[in-house]
Amino acid sequence: MYTDLKLFIDGKWLDGQGREGEDVINPANGKVLGHLPHATTADLDAALAAAEKGFAVWKSTSAYDRSKILRKAADLLRERHEHISRVQTQEQGKIYAESRAEVLTSADIIDWYAEEGRRAYGRIVPGRQKGVRQLVLQEPVGVVAAFTPWNFPTLTPVRKIAGALAAGCSVIIKASEETPGGCIELVRCFADAGLPAGVLNLVFGVPARVSEHLIPSKAVKKISFTGSIPVGKHLAGLAAKGMKKVTMELGGHSPVVVFADADAEKTADTIAAFKYRNAGQVCISPTRFYVQEQSYNRFLARFTEYAKAIKLGDGLDRGTTMGPLANARRLDAMEAFVNDAKNRGGKIVTGGSRHGNQGFFFQPTVITDVPDDAKIMTEEPFGPVAPIVPFKTFDEVVERANSLPYGLAAYAFTSSGATATAIGDALQAGMVGINSVAISTPETPFGGVKESGYGSEGGIEGLEAYTNVKFISQA
Ligand code: NAD
Repeated sequence: MYTDLKLFIDGKWLDGQGREGEDVINPANGKVLGHLPHATTADLDAALAAAEKGFAVWKSTSAYDRSKILRKAADLLRERHEHISRVQTQEQGKIYAESRAEVLTSADIIDWYAEEGRRAYGRIVPGRQKGVRQLVLQEPVGVVAAFTPWNFPTLTPVRKIAGALAAGCSVIIKASEETPGGCIELVRCFADAGLPAGVLNLVFGVPARVSEHLIPSKAVKKISFTGSIPVGKHLAGLAAKGMKKVTMELGGHSPVVVFADADAEKTADTIAAFKYRNAGQVCISPTRFYVQEQSYNRFLARFTEYAKAIKLGDGLDRGTTMGPLANARRLDAMEAFVNDAKNRGGKIVTGGSRHGNQGFFFQPTVITDVPDDAKIMTEEPFGPVAPIVPFKTFDEVVERANSLPYGLAAYAFTSSGATATAIGDALQAGMVGINSVAISTPETPFGGVKESGYGSEGGIEGLEAYTNVKFISQA
């Protein structure tokens, strides 16, 4: 029912065979799902050599033929989506409906890049002298080393893999050791679609050991990382030593600004559903709620009602609306957020503690009366805890919303066109949802500013991230 846990190097699936490794746990019940092999140093070197060889083959494959293989991989992902969704729910905890949406969106992302890769146009700039052609070309960067976390086992890898492959790059991906199955199944779709050996390689191991081996390697020309800010800074530092191109998609602490002229109940329903998706373990999850005084009580009442109605359980069980946290570290983190809030005068309106004694469940939680310098208001919660506080004026809320070093996502709700424009301009974030939470689609750029990182995934920007610009002046 789960999947065979293997490495994929140079077109071959490799299992334990004496390698070290680790168990993969189901966060709903703590049971072992399987044993994941770690790549040895020799395996990593083999992946580097394979990716260099794969790059030579893939960059000379036409964009048209690359597109056909990508499309076939997307079709296979759709065909296999039920199995892959179950794999993901077992290893990560999210409910089956969310897993399914993730896998199907992943197929859409591949399709989108399959098309966009055929349109990686350059341009011709008129020359200053007769007979001179000035050509601007986009060339694939080369071998990409990608690192992905545990919250979206298929979607985060696919953004990197599809963008890189569409641009003509080869990839070595180290997906999360805690949720390896989604990425293994994804890679299997590309392999079965006829991707040449070496173009895509999948490894696992001790994260620091793998990244410190791959990033400095001469073979690697581009790094793409999704994860926490401290790790992102460390990897960006390693990449800087070799002056390598980098995309960093890091943490956030997304403010939600609800103006008094918004429909308080409708907004609460929309944003609460978004808040508790994947138990809040989403980098663009709404995490700090600022509600204008006049509608504060109405919004809070409806949001709390939503949180109380959530049904916790195994994500594969019918009727479950929120699964467990992905690992025990998140449980400890939630307890620390709640305790700090309580110590600072915060009131727990609902939730606030662990649920049951099996698996890593934490109750959907709403906290009020917390000061702006409480831990929950300043550090990324990455869990089902929602602090809701009032504000008075536009200028005040903008200052509070922009006060942190994060700048990934932000949300605002208002029925005024003028306020919508003003808040869209004022919020410091790479993505802003106004009366909308649809800020992550295959065709639009996804990425942050400030310490939330740099570079975009998704959209045409997600393809350009894997290209170098070359200028040719031809007389
Ligand atoms: P963490 O910071 O140790 O790890 C985050 C991710 O980075 C994991 O997938 C891990 O395997 C990987 N990683 C860690 N060290 C690495 C290294 N030296 N080289 C390469 N990869 C490395 O901690 P965590 O407990 O997994 O998560 C803690 C916080 O990370 C969360 O609270 C959240 O703020 C952030 N996070 C963000 C995202 C995101 O989508 N942006 C995803 C997961 C976690």
